[in-house]
Amino acid sequence: MSYSKQLLSHNTMRIDAKCLGIIPIFDLRNIHKILVEGLSPLRVIGGGSNILLTSDINAYVLKNEIKGIEIIDEDAEQVLVKVGGGENWHQFVMWAISHGLGGIENLALIPGCVGAAPMQNIGAYGVEQVDTFHSLIAVDLKDGISQTFYKEDCNFGYRESIFKHEAKDRYFITHVMYRLQKSPTVHVAYGDIQNWLDQYNISVPSIRDVADAIMAIRKSKLPDPAVLPNTGSFFKNPIVPLAHLNELKESHPDIVSYQVDDQHVKIPAAWLIERCGYKGKRYGDAATHKSHALVLVNHGNASGKQMMEFANEIAGAVKAQFGVEIVPEVNLW
Ligand code: FAD
Ligand code: NAP
Repeated sequence: MSYSKQLLSHNTMRIDAKCLGIIPIFDLRNIHKILVEGLSPLRVIGGGSNILLTSDINAYVLKNEIKGIEIIDEDAEQVLVKVGGGENWHQFVMWAISHGLGGIENLALIPGCVGAAPMQNIGAYGVEQVDTFHSLIAVDLKDGISQTFYKEDCNFGYRESIFKHEAKDRYFITHVMYRLQKSPTVHVAYGDIQNWLDQYNISVPSIRDVADAIMAIRKSKLPDPAVLPNTGSFFKNPIVPLAHLNELKESHPDIVSYQVDDQHVKIPAAWLIERCGYKGKRYGDAATHKSHALVLVNHGNASGKQMMEFANEIAGAVKAQFGVEIVPEVNLW
């Protein structure tokens, strides 16, 4: 069978790179067939909203198209939902809200597929997918055997999981199970959400109000990849020891930070990048967004190599000025 090799329309940074073939996967049989045929090496892709293609890819790319949202267990307080890894994440959030089920409304409008959500433990506005995660089913691409991973197996952290480290490129996540609440508590601690609710005089917000707030904020702040190609936050927000923050405060008294634990704080990478003069800066077609320094954008024909050179320059400037390492959140292919 001949497969398309062009990854241009499969990555939201719109990098024009090729692979050995893009193979749609609708069910387990498709995966087993690929393994029997001995096609290798293999990579997995969902919506391509968190990858940077640094060059052509010497691998077959399995495109997750496994669909389905099914309630598999239920009690008075919660439901257990099994979701196909190829379902669109935002559509799943909308499904949950339309069924009055809470827990993932703060994650509205995150691009990509459900199967990729555990990969970096997606998070936004004070909520992470680990908060509702129950388990996932993944096929080991070495032997085709399906395994169940529970929370304790995944080593979830801030934009982290084993699937970004020791289990990288080994598994195809086919389904994810989430526990959603019938009488949810809403999370509105992030200032932008509260401001939006105040603007509309909403004092007791529903899960739909929270999702509406977040969708409106995101649309006003973030570039739409369909209009200006990007992968969201390019770098992770660095977590540094409190002592380092206190040193930085001497020369930068207005530095922004959020407490992580007794000894550590998170500094918004956007703040550091902006202070280094990189907000809205352009390097050929590679640039940082004019209103969000953490979002690298492709103004047209940037190659993955150019994007990476620009990203390295930014990280170098932040290190030189603040002594803080910022590392890519995006997966480098
Ligand atoms: P892809 O980019 O296709 O893949 C990402 C990685 O996961 C790859 O390494 C791939 O091999 C692996 N992978 C994908 N599917 C599978 C699978 N089924 N099994 C095994 N491995 C797999 N992220 C956040 O956390 N919070 C945000 O608020 C957020 N906002 C964003 C806003 C914008 C505008 C954009 C463009 C991105 C944003 N992101 C955010 C990043 C991105 O949307 C998420 O990381 C999302 O989960 C990626 O899904 P995807 O299907 O596009 O993954
Ligand atoms: P923001 O609200 O301007 O805040 C900047 C950073 O400060 C955020 O990254 C956030 O860290 C942190 N922060 C803000 N308020 C906080 C609070 N009350 N408690 C703890 N930390 C706080 O950020 P933004 O860029 O507009 O993004 C809003 C949310 O969407 C954030 O959660 C962000 O992570 C998420 N987002 C993620 C991506 C991505 O690609 N990963 C892209 C766009 C937006 P956290 O990142 O830890 O939340």
